[in-house]
Amino acid sequence: MNGATATILVVDDNSTNRKLVSDVLGFDGYRILQAGDAEVAQEIIRSTPPDLILMDIALPGMDGLTLTRQLKADESTSHIIIVALTAFAMKGDDAKAREAGCDGYITKPIDTRTLPDSVAAYLRGKS
Ligand SMILES: [Mg+2]
Repeated sequence: MNGATATILVVDDNSTNRKLVSDVLGFDGYRILQAGDAEVAQEIIRSTPPDLILMDIALPGMDGLTLTRQLKADESTSHIIIVALTAFAMKGDDAKAREAGCDGYITKPIDTRTLPDSVAAYLRGKS
């Protein structure tokens, strides 16, 4: 897949984080969709299925791992690459993300210099 045409959904309730990630990846040429909670994310995924989701774990309402489980259990969305955004200090979050079906994780705070390469690697099929 040509990374420059991939659609990425950024799910994060922290608007500063969400905008930062969206700006960095948008600058790289990706089509960016944004959601501040899992419920909005579900609506977007139904109408515009993304190639990859950057999924914050801690969200108001439904959390990111619950949404991940739902998406991976549904054959219409199970192919979507899901990369969890985990807080570096939260030990065990990486294991929880894997258990929920995430294809990988990126630790917060986000390193904007390495984010595009990490996302490109996930889109190429690295897990
Ligand atoms: Mg959060």
